[in-house]
Amino acid sequence: MKPGAFLLALIPLARLGHAQSDDTVPIQQIDAYITRTMRSARFPGVAVGIVKGDRVVYLRAFGRADPSGRRVTPQTPFLIGSVTKSFTALAVLQLVDAGRVELDAPVQRYVPWFRVGDSTISSRITVRQLLTMTSGLPQVYETQFWTDRDDRALERTVRLLATKQLTGEPGRTFGYSNANYETLGLIVQVVSGESYENYVKRHILDPLDMRDSFLSQDEAFGRGMASGYRWWFGIPVPVTLPYRRAELPAGYIIASTQDMMHYLIAELNDGRYGNTSVLSRRGMALRHAAGPGNSYGLGWEFVRFGERTLINHDGGTANFQSSLFIDPAAGVGVYVAANAINALDAFASPHGLSPLDGQTTRAMAHVILSLATGQPLPSEGIGHRRLTLIFDLMIALLSVALVISLMRIRVRHRRMARQGIPGRASLWSRIAFALVLNLTLPVALVYLSLAAPAWRAFALFQPDLIYWLYAVAVVLFIKGVLELLFIGRVYRQGQDARFMARRSHIETRVVVVGGGVGGLAAARHLDRLLGGRREVEITLVNRDNFFLLSPLLFEACSGVLELRHCAQPIRPCLRRVRFLEATAQEIDVARRIVRVAGPDAARELPYDQVIIALGATTNLSLIPGSEYARTFKTVADGLLLRNHVIEQLERASTEPSAERRRGLLTTTIIGGGLVGVELLGELTAFIEDELRYYPDIRRDELHFHLFEAGKRLMPESKPFLSEYADRLLRLRGVEVHVATPVQEIGPAFVRWAGGRVESQTIVLAAGIVPNAVAAAANVARDRRGRVLTEPTLRSTSDPRVWAFGDCASTPSPHGEPYPALAQHAVRAARTAARNVAAVIDGRPPKPFVYESLGMMAAFGHTRAACDLKGLKLTGFIAWWIRRTYYLFQMPRWDTRFRIAVDWTVSLFSRPDLTKIDLAEERELEQRNQAANGSRTGSLAS
Ligand SMILES: Cc1cc2nc3c(=O)[nH]c(=O)nc-3n(C[C@H](O)[C@H](O)[C@H](O)COP(=O)(O)OP(=O)(O)OC[C@H]3O[C@@H](n4cnc5c(N)ncnc54)[C@H](O)[C@@H]3O)c2cc1C
Repeated sequence: MKPGAFLLALIPLARLGHAQSDDTVPIQQIDAYITRTMRSARFPGVAVGIVKGDRVVYLRAFGRADPSGRRVTPQTPFLIGSVTKSFTALAVLQLVDAGRVELDAPVQRYVPWFRVGDSTISSRITVRQLLTMTSGLPQVYETQFWTDRDDRALERTVRLLATKQLTGEPGRTFGYSNANYETLGLIVQVVSGESYENYVKRHILDPLDMRDSFLSQDEAFGRGMASGYRWWFGIPVPVTLPYRRAELPAGYIIASTQDMMHYLIAELNDGRYGNTSVLSRRGMALRHAAGPGNSYGLGWEFVRFGERTLINHDGGTANFQSSLFIDPAAGVGVYVAANAINALDAFASPHGLSPLDGQTTRAMAHVILSLATGQPLPSEGIGHRRLTLIFDLMIALLSVALVISLMRIRVRHRRMARQGIPGRASLWSRIAFALVLNLTLPVALVYLSLAAPAWRAFALFQPDLIYWLYAVAVVLFIKGVLELLFIGRVYRQGQDARFMARRSHIETRVVVVGGGVGGLAAARHLDRLLGGRREVEITLVNRDNFFLLSPLLFEACSGVLELRHCAQPIRPCLRRVRFLEATAQEIDVARRIVRVAGPDAARELPYDQVIIALGATTNLSLIPGSEYARTFKTVADGLLLRNHVIEQLERASTEPSAERRRGLLTTTIIGGGLVGVELLGELTAFIEDELRYYPDIRRDELHFHLFEAGKRLMPESKPFLSEYADRLLRLRGVEVHVATPVQEIGPAFVRWAGGRVESQTIVLAAGIVPNAVAAAANVARDRRGRVLTEPTLRSTSDPRVWAFGDCASTPSPHGEPYPALAQHAVRAARTAARNVAAVIDGRPPKPFVYESLGMMAAFGHTRAACDLKGLKLTGFIAWWIRRTYYLFQMPRWDTRFRIAVDWTVSLFSRPDLTKIDLAEERELEQRNQAANGSRTGSLAS
């Protein structure tokens, strides 16, 4: 609905019904009152009727019946809610009149199986106690039969009482419960031998000529029933809720306001309406008499107001409300029905007896009755609008407080980190505080949702509050978990720092040289296994203060990933391991020393056990002129290649010479192994994506060459992967040269037996050699210089030296050395750490046995292929599996989160084209300074 139409619909236009004029009823005052209250309460539709004696003196409808804007009329059916109970009581009294039911007879006389939890008491519950709600039957909130539509729905609901305990001794105290009237409805069925619906229709609705009244929602909708609404933070929202046949006798009759006038006339005239009578005079006298000391009689409530006793019943389902008041002394009855409600409304009473006196229609009916009978008006209450405002304000304030508290998590964490957590007492008190503050609401809500049926009933009335509470609970839960993690981390860091500071009498020194994929994993395992020992010191040495997850370098190069996110700072990954950012220069196995060069000084690190995990470097001795080619091994390699590729596009876009353009736009990769193929896949995708920003370069001007000396691409993998890679790269326009050894690399060309290609971008990925420091160690090595180890990863020549990864040669159970792959290095790292710990403890080391999981290769543009233990996958799914696998190879969640964000952003955008070349920036800065005559500058200093 348009906003304008919505406002229009809020202006309640009165529609008149058939009412006889009566000068004593202040019609305009009542109209004005209803209009005002309706606006204030934001009722979509309201219908009101007044009966004086046997005449309808006021019958009007206001507002809209449903979202289409259809007007409410006095004939529009509304759910009347618990006013239904007076109909059920009337039906029972009719049967009493007919001598078929005795008021003081036990319920079991009519329903022999009727039981409550305590079966001895069951036989003492009488029909009268049900009518006056003094039976002690509790409210039944179980919802499983609510929507059952068959004839036994009611019976099933009543049978649920067999599991319930009474709330009090039968006949003693009043306790409002629908169960009383559901049981009465069943008695009506059993005694009359017809369904409750049939009985009420034949004996009440038809005789009273209630033609717009129904006992089925489907039928009522067919006859123009209004839509019910619930307020969401004060705004009425239409909702259709299932009709509960199982609760019909307690609250589900649907009636128009005009029909309710007929009902009121019968009530005010000893059961007579026109020529028919629905109850004897005696029956009606009984019905209008309150029980001793009980404000609830036979289907009616009795309200004392000053000198007067008013007869009343209110009704409320989760989307309708109504109220009926009779002043027997004045012979006046009022009925008000509205098509909206929420739980909050039960506490709002604009003119009620007290703010807690009941729902808005109750207050309205009361005020209108006072106006119609010339009685003083009840005092103003808080009002639904004000209550909603307070409610909305509270929700808004609490939400803001929650957001502020969330935003301050980091501040609190920093403060806590500064102050530290001195001891266990402080730790536990912080944990307890965080638990109580953050988890009380989530736990309470889980409990209420699972174990409190009443909560579900409440949720039906007030969904806005409930959903808000659940949202807050989820946020609090996440906040609680974060705070607990922070507390744990700060405590652990404090403990670790104290531990490291107090470490003395070191007996065993373990040095891990190289903090790459394998080295860092080994250090972390040693941390877990030996970190808590005072007599063992573990040191990790790495050239950089980060470790690079090489399989992510391709995307970092193309800009899909922020360059730093393919690396992980080492220090946060370690707890009780000393980290040294330094370059290992020599491993002196004779003196058991690792010689390292740090930023300012060289030093010697003595060791008892050394783990060599220095990896490998690109083999530059294989092809003459390799020094002209770029390598792709480190983060710096990735950054330089990225800048270079973008630079070639920039230059080519303005280069007039066709020959030079060709060189600039030709990319050559030497080496068709996993690295070369993946790199070319990513580069073809990247360059093609970026081409749209270079309108001066045509797609057919781009040239890619891939050289592989072996017979097929990716010789280390199964043929399936190489065939896929070959096909895909050729489709992207790559000239794949297999069985083609490159003979020479020049400054801007590559030559092979069959020809030569001019290319400004040449990357060498044709094999690796073990790291020079590892290869120079005085231990047994293979002919390529790799440290020879036993299957336990221990050097074959020195029991204090361990090695694995790209710099080692370890025999697999098949006899072949394990391949130079990250998946092997990570697993070997664990075995190496375990074996070093075992040797320190005097236990024998165990062999490293690892069966490869398979191979995966990605080619950019969401294309990949994998062969996982024979399971062959290609395309998007393979690409997704590869990404997810490597995401979890990153040791820390913060880095994983950053990577996930980068990947998500890249799904919707093209890779970044920014080229930041720090060397050039420095030159630029110096030039600027010269031009400005200035000598300052951050980069030039
Ligand atoms: C671009 C690329 C992509 C790859 N993709 C895959 C893949 O998809 N799947 C797969 O299984 N394998 C892949 N690999 C291979 C995999 O990365 C290696 O097998 C693995 O990293 C070997 O681990 P490592 O610990 O032996 O060596 P590295 O991870 O290379 O670690 C060696 C560490 O030693 C440090 N270091 C070197 N010299 C010194 C020194 N003198 N002093 C101090 N520190 C030093 C280095 O800085 C580095 O941190 C890829 C390799 C590359 C280059």
